[in-house]
Amino acid sequence: MQALVYNGPGKKALEDRAKPIIQAPTDAVVRITKTTICGTDLHILKGDVPTCLPGTVLGHEGVGIIEEVGSGVTMFKPGDRVLISCISACGRCDYCRKGLYSHCTTGGWILGNSIDGTQAEFVRIPYADTSLYPIPASADEEALVMLSDILPTGFECGVLNGKVQVGASVAIVGSGPIGLAALLTAQFYSPAQIIMIDLDDNRLSVSQRFGATEIVNSTDGKAAEQVMKLTGGRGVDTAIEAVGIPATFELCQNIVAPGGTIANVGVHGVKVDLHLERLWSHNVTITTGLVDTVTIPMLLKTVQSKRIDAGKLITHRFKLDQILQAYEVFGKASSTKALKVLIEA
Ligand SMILES: [Zn+2]
Ligand SMILES: [Zn+2]
Repeated sequence: MQALVYNGPGKKALEDRAKPIIQAPTDAVVRITKTTICGTDLHILKGDVPTCLPGTVLGHEGVGIIEEVGSGVTMFKPGDRVLISCISACGRCDYCRKGLYSHCTTGGWILGNSIDGTQAEFVRIPYADTSLYPIPASADEEALVMLSDILPTGFECGVLNGKVQVGASVAIVGSGPIGLAALLTAQFYSPAQIIMIDLDDNRLSVSQRFGATEIVNSTDGKAAEQVMKLTGGRGVDTAIEAVGIPATFELCQNIVAPGGTIANVGVHGVKVDLHLERLWSHNVTITTGLVDTVTIPMLLKTVQSKRIDAGKLITHRFKLDQILQAYEVFGKASSTKALKVLIEA
């Protein structure tokens, strides 16, 4: 089968690989119908993710059809259409019992990281019963690919951790796919203000179409002043960090109002200063975490009922044999205006 393989920092190739086989009774093999590329895949290619060894098939998002199940799988059978969670969960360990699937002691984010992922014709899914979700018959498969990772990540790590509330003010720093996913799902709670902050005017205008009430281009380094002006000098109740660099986390510290929450979503590779000399008396909460994907079933219903239009995050479409081109387009998002690129296997 064809698969996109990570061959060490800066190196990737579309290779011919053996079709995966059932290794444990709880495994399923899924024939991928649609997958996508994530910003995290670009981090891996930069060499930022040491758990991902050369030779690994990338990808942790997708939908497909069950090809084969192990003897211990009871929820799915060959032919079933399934949504793949980016997080594999045994369902039994202490963390899984608390819904902290991202910390599953034998699972978590392993797909396309420590085991072969979804950018291939077939993928082996461990703990299939608790890591796959059935796709309703009428569902738009393309939109559901957004449910593997980005919508639950924006929602759980940004909106829920950030305690977005009715009438409140929210700033989302970073309007890439994850920031936009937070923007879409923040609107469940009808905040009065959602201010989107980014360096890229195209992404800012997209975010206006997706429901941002105000946009701030932070290129001039004055984003904090602008947010303060937009919030009557108070700052925001929720600041969602959706980039993962020191400057954006520091910006969140500069714009969070007393009593507010900074919800970190970005993947940070280097340390960031925490300004306790100012924040110590501000009753601020800072949250961190990797997505657990516990909200996939709920989000699936909101996509099904058209409460949110997840498909509008897709800007480009490719076949699996064009995946190198898809990486090019996704990697140059500022010139190609790419958000999510859909890959049909
Ligand atoms: Zn991802
Ligand atoms: Zn577990």
